[in-house]
Amino acid sequence: MDERQVYWIEGDGIGAEVWRAARPVLDGAIRAAYGESRRLVWEELLAGEKAYAETGNYLPEATLAALQGADLAMKGPLATPVGTGFRSLNVTLRQTLELYACIRPVQYFQGIESPLKAPEKVDMVVFRENTEDVYAGIEWPAGSKEARKLAAFLREELGARIDDLAGIGIKPMTEKGSKRLVRKALQFALDQRRESVTLVHKGNIMKYTEGAFRGWGYELAEEEFGTQTVTESQDAGGKLVVKDRIADAMFQEVLISPEKYDVIATTNLNGDYLSDALAAQVGGLGLAPGVNMSDQLGFFEPTHGTAPTIAGQDKANPGSLILSGALLLDHIGWHEAAGLVRAGVEAALATKEVTVDLASQISGAKTVGCQGFGERILQGVEDAA
Ligand code: NAD
Repeated sequence: MDERQVYWIEGDGIGAEVWRAARPVLDGAIRAAYGESRRLVWEELLAGEKAYAETGNYLPEATLAALQGADLAMKGPLATPVGTGFRSLNVTLRQTLELYACIRPVQYFQGIESPLKAPEKVDMVVFRENTEDVYAGIEWPAGSKEARKLAAFLREELGARIDDLAGIGIKPMTEKGSKRLVRKALQFALDQRRESVTLVHKGNIMKYTEGAFRGWGYELAEEEFGTQTVTESQDAGGKLVVKDRIADAMFQEVLISPEKYDVIATTNLNGDYLSDALAAQVGGLGLAPGVNMSDQLGFFEPTHGTAPTIAGQDKANPGSLILSGALLLDHIGWHEAAGLVRAGVEAALATKEVTVDLASQISGAKTVGCQGFGERILQGVEDAA
């Protein structure tokens, strides 16, 4: 028996109901692919409101300790508790566990209405740096003692043109942070026999942060993958092409010519915008899976939040969590099971009996609940096996 332990966090809001729909699909796909010879051993960890109710702590030490020694975990969405000293549980988890790469595949599912003319050409994977950039949360409000002091220093010592009453945010980017992200993207692209990796940046304006990211990206490709990669100006000859685009141009390009883009490696803020914009091209966040990775841990999670206004009403779409599970299965090499999960989602979409968010994007669709849609996906898995 091949067993892999997966820690799981239920999450807040719609977390419980999407998990109730998702687990049977993932276990069902493994059973359909391998019989009783492989299984995931699920072990629950507490975080968020459930943790607070049981332990008085939103992120118990025991949860962090288990995750620090783990290689596989999945989570539902976590709400940001107000007035508890946490900026965000998600950000705390990412920073504590050094989950430096946020990876989101963007793939089209047949039948979903898309704003694109040829959405079936969309097949991209975004690697977003997860720990640096203006997103690191190093900022001070306008008029605060800290912001005024910093403004005075920048003006007087460094000659920067900055108003005394400016709110100030800092955008740190390092060679280490940039290179480890680009390394992961290049390794993935080579493993998956992808055609290109595009470095997306605003280096024309922010030379020493975004521009440096571009420079470090090319440097790493040359230093560590030189024999397997070429740049855009060279003849590809079957090698992986490394290219770069300015972020604003990239937003136009992925709409006009999505087929030219494959794996994307980008900085934190650009990646945040780009991955949501790409998800919208293929049916929105309800079917967008994701994973946050360190060198040791793959932490798989849906890209949506807790959807508080529909929580507990059996309306949520479990697709994003289910497809995040398919990513986990691919990550551990259980590709047959991952393929069955995706085939199950395709089959369920083809029944045109889908959750309410998808029903508005599929002509002639009827609405079913979260559990009902999960059951249709499981049926699709079993039929495809
Ligand atoms: P949200 O993703 O929860 O909701 C945005 C919209 O999408 C809402 O209309 C919601 O009803 C809908 N939606 C989201 N998931 C859906 C699903 N599975 N099926 C059907 N409809 C769905 O984003 P928000 O409202 O900005 O955030 C709500 C809470 O979630 C906040 O506390 C936020 O901090 C948290 N959040 C957590 C994560 C995470 O855990 N990774 C990500 C984003 C937001």
